[in-house]
Amino acid sequence: MGIRLTLFFMASLGTIYDLLILKVTDEKRKEPLPASVEEIYTAERWKTFLAYKKDMRRPHLFLRALMLALTALMLFSPFFYWLEQFSGNVYVHTLIAAFLVETIPFLCQLPVEYDVTFRIREKYGLNRMSRADFWKDQIIGWLFSVFLALTLYFLLTWILESLPQWTRQYQISFLQALLIMALIAGVLIVFMIAASFLSWRILRIQYHFSELEEGELRDQIRYLIRDSRHKVRKIEVYDESKKSTSKNAFVLKLLTYRTIGIADNFLNENSRRELLAVIAHEAGHLKHRRNIWNVLSIAGLFLLFLAGAFCLSKGGMIAQWETWIQEAFGLTLRNTVLSASAAGWFLSPIGAAFSVFRNFVSREEEYEADRNAVAEGYGKDLIQTFRSLSSDELIDVNPADLVEVLELDHPGMAHRIEAIETAMADLTHH
Ligand SMILES: [Zn+2]
Repeated sequence: MGIRLTLFFMASLGTIYDLLILKVTDEKRKEPLPASVEEIYTAERWKTFLAYKKDMRRPHLFLRALMLALTALMLFSPFFYWLEQFSGNVYVHTLIAAFLVETIPFLCQLPVEYDVTFRIREKYGLNRMSRADFWKDQIIGWLFSVFLALTLYFLLTWILESLPQWTRQYQISFLQALLIMALIAGVLIVFMIAASFLSWRILRIQYHFSELEEGELRDQIRYLIRDSRHKVRKIEVYDESKKSTSKNAFVLKLLTYRTIGIADNFLNENSRRELLAVIAHEAGHLKHRRNIWNVLSIAGLFLLFLAGAFCLSKGGMIAQWETWIQEAFGLTLRNTVLSASAAGWFLSPIGAAFSVFRNFVSREEEYEADRNAVAEGYGKDLIQTFRSLSSDELIDVNPADLVEVLELDHPGMAHRIEAIETAMADLTHH
C-alpha cells in the first residue's frame, strides 16, 4: 500500500499546484489593471470577462477532481492485476491498459467539453462550432491520441523487453550504454517526427486550408517574410470561423518545412495593417536564429540522454524499478503503462522545472518576434490588434507575474504591450 500511496501523492501534486495557481490568479484579478492594458476593457466588458472566467471555473475544477479520482481508481483497484489475469502476454495487457487509460478519461471529459462549448462559450458569443463539427473533432482527437499511445507503448515495451538481450543482462560499459541509448533516442525521435507530421495531417482534416490568392496582400506578406531562414512553401487561410471567433496566425516549422496559416476571421474582420502586423510578428519567428537559450535547451536534452545511458550501465536500475512497481501491484509481468506512468509521476518535478525554462525561452522569442513587427513599422497596429482581440476573446490581459513565469509560453498582454511601446520609442530615438 505504501508505494501506491506514494504514487498517488506524486500524481496529485499537479492538482495541488493547479489550485495554488487559481488562488494567485483570483488575487491578481482584484487589482486594478496597469496603464498599458486599462483601456482594453470597458467597465461593462470587464464584468463580462469576470463572469466568463467564473463560469469556466466549475467545469475546470470538476475535470481536475474527476481525473484525480480516475488515477486513484487505477492505483487502488486491482485494475492492472485484472488486465494481467486477462492476458499473460506483456504486449497485450500493456496495450489494453494504454487503450483504457486514453479512452476512459476521454469519455468522462466529453460531457464537460460539450457543456463548455455549447453552454458557456455559446453564452459569451465565443462559439461558432456546430454539434456535428464538435463530435467530429472529438473523435478525431481521440483516435489520434489512442494511436499515438498504442504506438509509443508498443515501442517502449519492445525496448524494455529487448534490453536484457542488448545489454547481456545489463553487463555493459558506459560507452556501450551510450550506443544503445543513441539507438533508443533515434527510435523516439523518428516517432516524434512522425507524430508531428500526423498531427499536421489531422489539422488539415479538422480545418479547410486554401492557398491565399495572388494579389497585393500576398505580395506584402512575401515581402515581410523575405528574410526567413527556410523557404516558406505555403501561405494559407483556414476556416477558423467555422469553430470560433478566435483570430490567429501561425508559422508551422517541421524540420526545414515552413508554412504560414492565417485564420479567416482575421481577413474578414480586421484592417489590412492589423493583419500585416501579425504577419510581421510571424516573420520574426521565421528569421529567428538559434540563441544561447536554444543551445541550453539542447544541452538539457543531452544531459537527459547521458542520464539515460548512466541508468542503463548501472546494473539494471530500470529492471529494479519495474520489479519494485510490479510487486507493489501484485503483478508477475511488466506493464509498461504502469511503470512508465509511475516513473513519470516521480520525475514530474524535473519535468515542471524544464517546462518553466521552455516557457521562458518561448516568451523571449515572442518579444523578439514583436520587435520585428516594430522594426517593419507595424508597432502601433500590433498593439491595436492585441487590444481588440483581447476584449473580443475575453483574454486575461494582466496575469500575475508568478503565473506568467510558471505557466505561460506567451508574455501577458500588459508586459507585451509595454515591451512593444519601449521598442517603438527606441526606434524613434535612433
Ligand atoms: Zn509568436
